[in-house]
Amino acid sequence: MLKIKLSIFFCFLLSFCFAQRELALKYETRLHTYLTFKGSLSPFIKITETDARVYKSNQDKLNDNPEFIIAYDEIKTFEQLVKNAPNDSIEAILKRKGKTKWSKKTKSEIQILYENEDRDASENKPLSGKRILIDPGHIAGNFEMSVIEQKYLRFVKDSVPNLPVDSIHISEGILTFATAQILKKQLEEQGALVWLTRDDNKTSFGITYQKWLSTRKQIVLDSLLECGAMEKTKYNKLKKEDEKTFFWSFFRDHELANRVKVINKHKPDLTIIIHYNVDEKNTDWLRPTDKNFCMAFVPGGMNVDALKGINGKANVLRLLLTDDFPLSEKISDLTVKEFSKQLENQVAKKTDADYLKDNCISSSKQGVFCRNLALCRLVKSPLVYGECLYQDNKNEYLELSKADKTYYGINTNTRVKAVSDAYFNAIMQFYKK
Ligand SMILES: [Zn+2]
Repeated sequence: MLKIKLSIFFCFLLSFCFAQRELALKYETRLHTYLTFKGSLSPFIKITETDARVYKSNQDKLNDNPEFIIAYDEIKTFEQLVKNAPNDSIEAILKRKGKTKWSKKTKSEIQILYENEDRDASENKPLSGKRILIDPGHIAGNFEMSVIEQKYLRFVKDSVPNLPVDSIHISEGILTFATAQILKKQLEEQGALVWLTRDDNKTSFGITYQKWLSTRKQIVLDSLLECGAMEKTKYNKLKKEDEKTFFWSFFRDHELANRVKVINKHKPDLTIIIHYNVDEKNTDWLRPTDKNFCMAFVPGGMNVDALKGINGKANVLRLLLTDDFPLSEKISDLTVKEFSKQLENQVAKKTDADYLKDNCISSSKQGVFCRNLALCRLVKSPLVYGECLYQDNKNEYLELSKADKTYYGINTNTRVKAVSDAYFNAIMQFYKK
């Protein structure tokens, strides 16, 4: 009898150890293959069979003196904390945690304190209760703004002699916003709660760039100078810059950081980031290209800057330990397949663009690449950062420049509708049980 009991116990122990090792192996692969760029995170993170440890320096790793650890049976609580608590609370709680494990009592306290919002799933529709955030890339709602943010195409007869019209104007911000508006309606019909990060020709601050310049620029620069985050010489330089120069030297990153805040504030279950691409080798974009590829980006390929402060480290561990990374791969894979099907263009390989070759890591899915973009890294939900087609492609630009069709009251063209359909189909498949 004792023999049987003992062998059951050893069997249980063996399978437990095996499961722990499997888990550790999964996180090792995720960290070293996808999340780190050229091994830059590796000196600061260690994965054991029971926990993940993060260190301030490589020396601390050698001495096994972690800043904090997350045991595998703490991941759920950790995820709830990182996704729902304000940054200063995350920092204070993880500082206090350090090398210790959370007690049952602390776990339930964190869970109660940072519970997810109520999801109203009373309506019985396929996406009822799902919170979906859509980010229409860039800002422009008119050609003037697209010139400031340098996200436009302008073809004229001088450079494209067989142009079927006098000139072609395409603003990426107009395409992304129209796509987002249609997609929002499609998803709402299925019961989802949907938000956009911006309105027409507006920044994520809720106002136009010009309005921001006249009402907020001075206040923001003054406060950065006052708190010591900006030097006086830089402050003086930025104050004098014209709107186009200032957009690139300050506003673009400032606005992106705000987009991240807006997205995370809504605590989405899924984030859809919409962009339209161009052929990088077709510089100046004065004439059409033969190339046309679709692709999507997911988190990963991070460098050591991602580990800045406790919040940075917590964010990297979120990508390592929660399902945000594999679910981003899943929605992105579905999206790329739908792009290819709906738009009939090719799925990009790593060799199809220099930025894919030099800055990205191939994920396990075709056409899906890990890229260290601010939104990929900092948005705290599964996400797809879609680049559906090349606007400057010879078969695309004419159709993309049109606004001859109306869908849900939105004037646009058939290609934008096809892109929206691609995202919509991918989301429906993603949530299919
Ligand atoms: Zn873009």
